[in-house]
Order: sequence, then C-alpha cells, then structure tokens
Amino acid sequence: MALRPTAHIVTYGCQMNANDSEVMLAYLEEMGYEWCPEPEDADLVMVNSCCVRKSAEDRAMGRVGELKRVKDQRPTMFIGLTGCMPQQPGRAEEIARQAPHLNLVMGTHNLARFPELALLAKDRATPLVEIAPEPDQLPAFPRGQAPGERVSAWVTILRGCDKRCTYCIVPYVRGREMSRPVDEIVAEVRTLVSQGVREVSLLGQNVNAYGKDRPADGVTFSGLLRRLEEVDGLWRIRYTTSHPRDFTQEMIDTIAASKKVSDHFHLPVQSGANAMLKRMARGYLIDRYLDLVRRVRAAIPEATLTTDLIVGFPGERESDFLETLQLVEELRFDRSYMFMYSPRRGTPAADFPDQVPLSVKQERLARLMEAQDRISLEKNQRLVGRTVEVLVEGPSPKRPEVLTGRSRDNRTVLFPGEPSLTGSLVPVRLVDAHTWTMLGERAS
Ligand code: SAH
Ligand code: SF4
Repeated sequence: MALRPTAHIVTYGCQMNANDSEVMLAYLEEMGYEWCPEPEDADLVMVNSCCVRKSAEDRAMGRVGELKRVKDQRPTMFIGLTGCMPQQPGRAEEIARQAPHLNLVMGTHNLARFPELALLAKDRATPLVEIAPEPDQLPAFPRGQAPGERVSAWVTILRGCDKRCTYCIVPYVRGREMSRPVDEIVAEVRTLVSQGVREVSLLGQNVNAYGKDRPADGVTFSGLLRRLEEVDGLWRIRYTTSHPRDFTQEMIDTIAASKKVSDHFHLPVQSGANAMLKRMARGYLIDRYLDLVRRVRAAIPEATLTTDLIVGFPGERESDFLETLQLVEELRFDRSYMFMYSPRRGTPAADFPDQVPLSVKQERLARLMEAQDRISLEKNQRLVGRTVEVLVEGPSPKRPEVLTGRSRDNRTVLFPGEPSLTGSLVPVRLVDAHTWTMLGERAS
C-alpha cells in the first residue's frame, strides 16, 4: 500500500487563524493527507499568516524563506501561504514575486475552496494566486478526526468585523461580519461534546455582534450563550473577543446567571486617554469603559479582567501615555496584551502625520509592561492557598511531568499528576504564582 502524503500547517496570529488551520487540516484529511509533526518533512505545508502588526508578517515571510531551502532539495514539496497577509490589497502579487517557490497564495475568503485550489496548485512552477475580494460563502467548518484527548475546542461563531478602528487591518482582510446560523453552531458543539470536548471557546473579532447580520433568526450573543448552556456534557464556555462598546447589560446578566460561561472578561481598552480613543474611533470614552468594568465587577466580583493596550499611537503624548499607565494601576487588570503601534498600509492611522518614534514606543512599552507584570504577579500571588477547579488539558508540552489546565476564570494552572486525568475537572490547591501561570497540587 502506498504511503499517505503528509501535511503540516504553520499558524501565526489569533485564534481565528488557529481555527481556520483546523478547518484546512480537516479538508486535508478528507483529501488523504496525514499530519506530519515537522514542516520540513511534510509533502505539503501551509503557512497561515497574520498581518495585524509588521512583526507578524516578518515571521511568516521568514518561515516561507526557510522552507525554500527544503524545497530546493526536494522540489516536489508543496508550499502555500494563506491567512490575512495576502488578503491585503495588492499584497498577494507582491508575495508571489518575492517568493516564487510558493505553489499557492490564498486569501482568507477562499477557505471553502481550499481543497480545489490545493489540487490546482499542486505541480505549478509559479504560484497560483487566489484572493476573493469578499467572502462568497462561509466554509463548511468540517471537523477532522475526533479530537481524541482534546478537551477544549474553538468554534467560530462569526467571521469578519464591521468596525473601523483606525489602526486596524482586520476589517480589510477579514471582510464584513457574517454570523453562522445558531443551529449549525449548536450542532457543532454537540458533535464536539460527543467526541469528549468539555469546553468550547467561541470565536469572532467582535462576538457581541453575533446575530446582527441575521435579524430573521432573532438570536443575539446572549441568546446563543443561553442555547449552549443547555448542551449536556458541555462544562465550560469561553469567548473571544468582545468589544467594550457592544457589551450589553443583558450579556453581563446572562454570564452572571450561567453555570458554564467563564468568569473571564477580555475587554480590550487600547488606551486610557480619551484623545487617543477618539482618534482610534473605538466608539467609547474612558468613563464608559470604567462604568462597564464597574458593572461587570458588581455582577461577578471575582471576575478576571484582561485587556489589550497599544502604545505609541500617532499623536500620543507623554501625558496620554500616563493616562494609560494610570488606568492599568487603577483597574488592576489580571493580564494585558501590550503592543507598540504598527502602521498598516491602507488604514487611516498609517497616514496620520504625527507618528511616534520607535524609541519612544519601546520605552513606553517597557514601562507599561513593568507595571502590568507587577500587577499580574500580585494578583496571582493573592490566590495562593486557594483551591480552584481545573479542567485538565493534558501534560504540559514543555514539562511533561506536570499537567496543564485552566481554572474557571481562565488562569493557566500547572500541577503534578497522571496523564489519565486529562479531560477531567480536578480540585487543585494553588501553591505558587508566576506572572502568567499558577503552580498547584492536587487537593483531596
Ligand atoms: N477584534 C479585536 C482585536 C483584534 S486585533 C478587538 O477589537 O478587541 C488584537 C489586538 O491587536 C487589538 O486589540 C490591538 O490591541 C492590537 N492591534 C491591532 N492593530 C494593531 C496595530 N496596527 N498596531 C499595534 N497593535 C494592533
Ligand atoms: Fe480591528 Fe477594531 Fe475590528 Fe477589533 S473591532 S478587529 S480592533 S477594527
């Protein structure tokens, strides 16, 4: 019997990309491919790229360059590039010129046609470039082999973004908002649960917009959460990302009443200065954000609160930055994802005249990280001694002798234990704290 061809997917960027990679892998399995752990050994490699910041693009192109050396030795190798990077206007042709060893350059809207395009691009000497300007259809979201040991799975609930934050490339590369029908989502979750999944993470650039483009269904994000609450065998529900502007009281109340939805609120604020929020076109000012946090904490006092922050947005003065720093000290986020502003071609902010020098951005980022890391550690330290319920995901990839899992409020907890605990809920006493993780031991 002939050996099956092998495939590998390298994924950069957000969980939406990770989920798209799972969809591609499922297609590849249907096409007869087998997963290959090392990209260098695979017959087919897809690089799923991100372009939200320049550094992400550099990483993806670096990987494409490394793979060229392998292909020089083994010319039958198939290399494809997909994701947000080639979806930027005019960018795909540029990439095809820069990296003629690619077989396929495919945009984000072509996912549903991936099997067909992979076949067409197979034995080409020059890249096949396929970029649809608009999503023509949602992909079928096939699921590959049973997730097996996997206890947690991502489920896309809507694609695209209708907001226009002035720094952000996402609306240009992911298109307009398209929600999946609620019955399809519920059916997918039921299938996953029957395969042993106990936790789902609902994905969208702005999950609170769920359903707005399907008014006939009459199901909002809160409604979707209530539907999923009823799925037997599903223990936990997470979601990301939620835009502070659209976070309604109904959502807070639904989450507070739920036994399954995580107590983790990821509410990207971006800046603590009104002047910046206006120029970013975020659609809220700081008072409204503070009020939202107050209402969340009133409903769920133990809620974990995390955020995204950008430093060095065009026009950011030292005094604006200090307002961000002060907000971090005041709200004491459990964690923050902090970024230097990266100009993205085609977005309004890239053309704002008052760009901030790199050295200033670096210096502000360092100060902000220092404050946040101190607060993260302090907040984790305060939990030492407590017992939390951990959903065990399996042996830690870096330290196989310990298990990794998450608490209900989405903290990563490591503790010594048998791999057979994977997939179960285990009470764990927290014994030590780091900035990003907690260490624990099994409680009786
Ligand atoms: N839809 C999500 C964000 C997706 S991008 C939301 O609105 O919350 C994830 C984060 O990347 C953003 O929250 C922002 O903090 C950061 N980001 C986006 N564009 C950026 C840019 N051009 N430069 C630096 N950071 C950026
Ligand atoms: Fe980008 Fe704003 Fe849309 Fe988030 S809401 S993806 S930051 S445009």
